[in-house]
Amino acid sequence: MLNLSSTINEESGFCFGVIYAVQLAEDYLSQNDHLYCLGALVHNDMELQRLKSLGLRIIDRRQLQALKNEVVMIRAHGEAPATYRQARRNGLTLIDASCPVILKLQHRIKRAYEAGETVLIFGNRDHAEVIGLVGQTEGKAIVVDESDLGQLPELPPRVSLFCQTTQRPKAFYRLKKLLENRGIQVDMQDTVCRQVADRNNRLKVFAGSFDKIVFVAGAASSNGKMLFRTCKTVNPNSYFVSSTYDLKPDWFEPYDKVGICGATSTPMWLMEEIQTRLQSY
Ligand code: SF4
Repeated sequence: MLNLSSTINEESGFCFGVIYAVQLAEDYLSQNDHLYCLGALVHNDMELQRLKSLGLRIIDRRQLQALKNEVVMIRAHGEAPATYRQARRNGLTLIDASCPVILKLQHRIKRAYEAGETVLIFGNRDHAEVIGLVGQTEGKAIVVDESDLGQLPELPPRVSLFCQTTQRPKAFYRLKKLLENRGIQVDMQDTVCRQVADRNNRLKVFAGSFDKIVFVAGAASSNGKMLFRTCKTVNPNSYFVSSTYDLKPDWFEPYDKVGICGATSTPMWLMEEIQTRLQSY
């Protein structure tokens, strides 16, 4: 026996945007046998499996085009106006779980675009949230990814800069500096979600307090990648797992103190399963 002691970080687990979306889906599925959802409701395969067993059916945009007179959920990432138009054309009823933080950001970007400003978004251009943000500008917003920081595209002399809610504040401020060094006038709006940014800061303290860290998240979770990077920087003995199957006993020494934490899309029940498995080593 390794006799590990483990602690789950109380601040890890669903953010309020994800709690709201999951609750809406569960409420609907308690009265109905199925519910369509445009894209994965949460970036966590284990939680998704649980919701699918309740009747959640994940569809993509192509499938949405063919769907008529059904009920479809919009997830916390939000959607572009074109999705709402498509839903109206197809007679779909929407259950809209767009996170209020992202809705506010969408409105700010729309206002800036309509005022004639050049909208620059720092984020992952393939991420659903960013696709929804670019949709507010009729596809005109310019997206800069963290990997573009080494070679920025040609830009006008003045930009309105926004940020995908789950990006790293440090990288966002680096972009601002790079733009200003080029003589570009930047009207910057720090739109990083405080739920993620505050966790990031507090996670540094948590990760430094244990011999080993087990970070639990789905491989597709943006804030999961970002928060894991924070753990790994503070505590090199940090391991990323998506389920109990990924755990390896040889990561641990006898009597290690293990911290368990996760992303805003990691359910508490999954972290508890990890803890139970660790206790069996
Ligand atoms: S991380 Fe923030 S913006 Fe994203 S869903 Fe959660 S509360 Fe909303």
